Amino acid sequence: MFEELKEEDFSLIQKAKDIIKANYDSQNYRHTVGCALRCADGEIYLGVNVYLAHGACAEMIAMGTAITAGKREFECIVAIGGNNSDIIYSPCGNCRQMLMDYCPECYVIINTHEGVKKTKAKNLIPFAYETPFN
Ligand SMILES: [Zn+2]
Repeated sequence: MFEELKEEDFSLIQKAKDIIKANYDSQNYRHTVGCALRCADGEIYLGVNVYLAHGACAEMIAMGTAITAGKREFECIVAIGGNNSDIIYSPCGNCRQMLMDYCPECYVIINTHEGVKKTKAKNLIPFAYETPFN
């Protein structure tokens, strides 16, 4: 279920770290998570969360930006947060469903009991509701 990271995955993690470090809002906790999304063509899109109770997650912003640019195939996604921008966040339930709807085969980088690994989005939401879009 879990796979080892490749060099390009570590690079993706660094891009997520960089984007949240550049935008972290410690005063209002509005932007505390950064996300990097690698598309099938290798292009990378970034996002930071926009706070609203349970608002727009960084993953949603990154994916929405990629979709706005015409991208439809996604290869790997990672979200980073924390004061020192060094914690890999697993996607929340909403984002897991979004990933299931848009790209069940997309890899998601997460922390596991055996360290940082990646797994396909569909593995993070077993027995998921499936939309007619897939
Ligand atoms: Zn989320």
